[in-house]
Amino acid sequence: MKRAAGIPLSSTPATTGGGTKIPRDSVQLTDPKLKRKRVVIIGAGFAGLQVVRGLARAPVDVVVIDRENHHVFQPLLYQVATAGLSATSIAVPIRSVLRKQSNARVLLAEATAVDLPNRTLQLGDGDQLDYDYLVVAAGAESHYFGRDEWAENATGLKNVRDALSIREQLLGAFERAEREPDDRKRAALLTAVVIGGGPTGVELAGAISDLGREVVARECPRIDPEDVRVILVEMAERVLTPFDARLSAEAKRQLEELGVEVRLGTPVTEVDDHGVSTDAGRIDAATVCWASGVKPAGLTGAVPRDRS
Ligand SMILES: Cc1cc2nc3c(=O)[nH]c(=O)nc-3n(C[C@H](O)[C@H](O)[C@H](O)COP(=O)(O)OP(=O)(O)OC[C@H]3O[C@@H](n4cnc5c(N)ncnc54)[C@H](O)[C@@H]3O)c2cc1C
Repeated sequence: MKRAAGIPLSSTPATTGGGTKIPRDSVQLTDPKLKRKRVVIIGAGFAGLQVVRGLARAPVDVVVIDRENHHVFQPLLYQVATAGLSATSIAVPIRSVLRKQSNARVLLAEATAVDLPNRTLQLGDGDQLDYDYLVVAAGAESHYFGRDEWAENATGLKNVRDALSIREQLLGAFERAEREPDDRKRAALLTAVVIGGGPTGVELAGAISDLGREVVARECPRIDPEDVRVILVEMAERVLTPFDARLSAEAKRQLEELGVEVRLGTPVTEVDDHGVSTDAGRIDAATVCWASGVKPAGLTGAVPRDRS
């Protein structure tokens, strides 16, 4: 059986008569004489870390599993996507966050399935991990509403990888636009579409517009900043639908002041590697960002729900 990162793994869970599960090989994790219960937490986002911290003085062993080695401050992802901040400004290694918590261990792994009756967690690399208590704090991921293939050309903004990908697309497009002689192709290179007018889409569209105009004006002498287009496409009749209508109107006004074209009541019908199609026509664009919705991260959906 494989082992990962020094954390004891077991494929044959053991339980006592009282139903308490004792990981057979916990000798590597803690002093076996303590026979402490193991709490496994999936996800080192705000929620997962809050739980770990809350257990700092509890007589349990805590194992935090995350598929990334860092905790990320998601509200500032748009700044990384638009080159305002470096990735390291908003991400911190999970191990360093928990370094001083003696009852916590960190495991870099993807949790793929939960065996509730046996209290065993399946990991992506084939290993299994026993637990007494399981906390699923896996967060959310981009939701493409049945069109998962759009993910290839419409990048979501849920993690550092997404943010760096958007940044690369934007800056790469400006570079190519500088030496593109064909007007139509050049226009597409200078166009970014943000799909979804919720908080993420509004924030991102405004920041892209800022970036486009500022960078182009300062560093791309062969491009007219006025040629940079940022188009926010929203299916509903206003942006920021969960908020008061007056705030939606004000957000739209401010976006337009920043140079963003806001297209409301405009469902996207197709996304491909040259742009997007909408009910109201085609938009050729080198950069397309998806901010249209989220759903529980894959594993969360796989955990049976107790509705009692
Ligand atoms: C662009 C953006 C802007 C935001 N702005 C704001 C804001 O201004 N104000 C605000 O209050 N909120 C904001 N939010 C929302 C806020 O960031 C989230 O509500 C919060 O991060 C959720 O925390 P969480 O711990 O539940 O999940 P997350 O922070 O998403 O953490 C989940 C963790 O689980 C890990 N994980 C997932 N699945 C697995 C698996 N199968 N195996 C192992 N690990 C896994 C992930 O790698 C991740 O580290 C924003 C979110 C985004 C994306």
